[in-house]
Amino acid sequence: MNVAVCVKQIPDPAQPGRLDPQSHTLVRQGKLIMDDSDSYGVEMALQLADAAGGGEVTLVSMAPGGETSGLRTALAMGASKAVLVSDEALAGSDALSTAKVLAAAIRRLSPDLVVAATESTDGYTGTLPVQVAELLELPSVSFAKRVEVDGSTVRVNRQTEAGSDDVECPLPALVTVTAGVVEPRYPSFKGIMAAKNKPVEQLSLADLGLSPEEVGAAGARQEVISVAPAEERQAGEIVVDEGDAHERIVAFLDELKLI
Ligand SMILES: Cc1cc2nc3c(=O)[nH]c(=O)nc-3n(C[C@H](O)[C@H](O)[C@H](O)COP(=O)(O)OP(=O)(O)OC[C@H]3O[C@@H](n4cnc5c(N)ncnc54)[C@H](O)[C@@H]3O)c2cc1C
Repeated sequence: MNVAVCVKQIPDPAQPGRLDPQSHTLVRQGKLIMDDSDSYGVEMALQLADAAGGGEVTLVSMAPGGETSGLRTALAMGASKAVLVSDEALAGSDALSTAKVLAAAIRRLSPDLVVAATESTDGYTGTLPVQVAELLELPSVSFAKRVEVDGSTVRVNRQTEAGSDDVECPLPALVTVTAGVVEPRYPSFKGIMAAKNKPVEQLSLADLGLSPEEVGAAGARQEVISVAPAEERQAGEIVVDEGDAHERIVAFLDELKLI
């Protein structure tokens, strides 16, 4: 079974993020790492390919500057190869433009299954995977807590507000996974060494048959108008117990309608 996994490469969350003062978008220069959310998708894909008795796991990413550091981590986990779309004309791409690019790259692979995370940890519109599915005319199942493939059917236990649903759909399909669907493995030393020589195909917009007008700032239908710093958290009120602390705390919780 061949599985394509979307892997978003993001600035290291350990470093404070910066916004470009003109475009108000995240500055994504320098080394990028694999978004932690996608390590679940990579692990899920590896386990499904194993359970099916073989097949390839191919990573698909769109990132600036020909960046492959995050992809190498996923290759070290065991994925066979990667496709990276990088093109200067992609700067300013909104979620739909990104979906168009990833859908075009995935179409060339004709996978049995496409796996993505439910949402990324930096941009997190949570809309990209379903847009990719729509563009590829594939059924999509979101918020997967458990995924099994049986022949040409994928069975998914998906998280809902009330609990969970069991659904199934025919392959090919797109599934988005939640953190906790599987426990991502740590890349082994052997895996890290092997990843250095695994193929990463770099594609431009022209390779995908897309024109610069459809993507990037030119094709974006969303625009960030302004940004403002988040309000600083106020210091909490300290209740000094003069015999009536419990009453004051209950009154406070009652005021907030928490009890
Ligand atoms: C108006 C606007 C302008 C923007 N301008 C820029 C810009 O100039 N430069 C820039 O770098 N970004 C820019 N972005 C963000 C960029 O387009 C995002 O990659 C895109 O919006 C999808 O990310 P998300 O976090 O919202 O995806 P979500 O829907 O939250 O992600 C869900 C999952 O989809 C997959 N996925 C998402 N993005 C990618 C990716 N790039 N490659 C592989 N898999 C992916 C991952 O599996 C991810 O976990 C802009 C966004 C907007 C709205």
